[in-house]
Amino acid sequence: MTEMINEFKHSMTKSNVIRILIIGIIYTAMELVGLLLSSLGFFESDIRLYVAIIVIFHLVYLPITFSLHRKNDIKILSKMQYVYFYVILSWGSVFNVLMYIEEEDITIYSIVMLLISAMFILRPLVSRIMYALNFLLFSGLIYLNVSESLVVNQLLFKSLIVTVIAVAISNTNYAVRKKLNDSQNDLIRLNKKLKDQALRDSLTNLYNNGYLFDFLEKAVSNKVHCGSNFSFLMIDIDNFKLINDQYGHLFGDQVIKSVASKLEKLTRDTDVVCRYGGEEFVVILCHADIEMAKQIAERIRLEIAKEKVENEVAVTVSIGVSIYDNQEALALIKEADDKLYLAKNSGKNKVVI
Ligand code: GH3
Ligand code: MG
Ligand code: MG
Repeated sequence: MTEMINEFKHSMTKSNVIRILIIGIIYTAMELVGLLLSSLGFFESDIRLYVAIIVIFHLVYLPITFSLHRKNDIKILSKMQYVYFYVILSWGSVFNVLMYIEEEDITIYSIVMLLISAMFILRPLVSRIMYALNFLLFSGLIYLNVSESLVVNQLLFKSLIVTVIAVAISNTNYAVRKKLNDSQNDLIRLNKKLKDQALRDSLTNLYNNGYLFDFLEKAVSNKVHCGSNFSFLMIDIDNFKLINDQYGHLFGDQVIKSVASKLEKLTRDTDVVCRYGGEEFVVILCHADIEMAKQIAERIRLEIAKEKVENEVAVTVSIGVSIYDNQEALALIKEADDKLYLAKNSGKNKVVI
């Protein structure tokens, strides 16, 4: 759960940083052109100083952030994004007060607030704190720069409304994004579960023969984790029909489950254990040569024979072993099946290689 929350925070930071970089670069380029034009006398230049300040900030901030972004340093980036937001917000406030407050105009303050809340995704608590602090800054600047108290009140009231709207937009933005992220995660999880279910047998939760054939097909083109070096065991419970007849099918199922869990316990995580069908199992032993396969098969046979199921019914298995040598799936299975047939015909509870 915390992993998922972290993952959401990371994706939020990443998308914020990318937006900061894109918007920051476009803005800086435009302002540089503006500064050039105003120094050539195309516009009035009364705001040149303030623009220069924010351009210089961008020229320092953007390269640092870009290199952190390339290094994928999420921890620092998550702090850096707040630096950006707070600098832009307070710059908007200062700029607005110094330039336009005489005309009782809070357009710049409003634009900066609303732009940040609409473009970026901030945690509700963070955005509340940030906008509140900026509102306090703005109010302080108004007090210091406006002398008439009625005008001060009016400006404060207007900016408070804008601030509240900005916080609301920011929080809605976050909620929408969070919901989207959650449902996306649900889908991914469900998809994984469905895929897994399609490859597993419902009684034992072992892989099914669909998975096995897929594995063997991939093995021919050397695309499995075992490479081309594995042994193949075909395992069949002895006299299972008798167990079913004597103790019932439900008990028979119990026996199948018990054998399945023993097979899983007796093999390594890299080995593949499948329920081939009915009371037949396949085990693929990764990186096992004839000698090793023989040993492991013997151990499986002995361990299963050793312990009675539910302390009352002795169960044995017969095992046919083949070694993978780039043969087709069907050939590999047939070789093991032939050995299994020999084991059955020579008295059962046997391994034949
Ligand atoms: P052998 O020692 O030669 O293998 O004899 P066997 O009785 O084990 O083999 P056979 O193939 O004659 O019988 C297998 C039986 O397994 C037949 C089938 O009814 C039963 N079976 C297949 N799938 C299941 C299952 O999922 N649950 C239960 N309880 N029985 C099953
Ligand atoms: Mg059978
Ligand atoms: Mg059998």
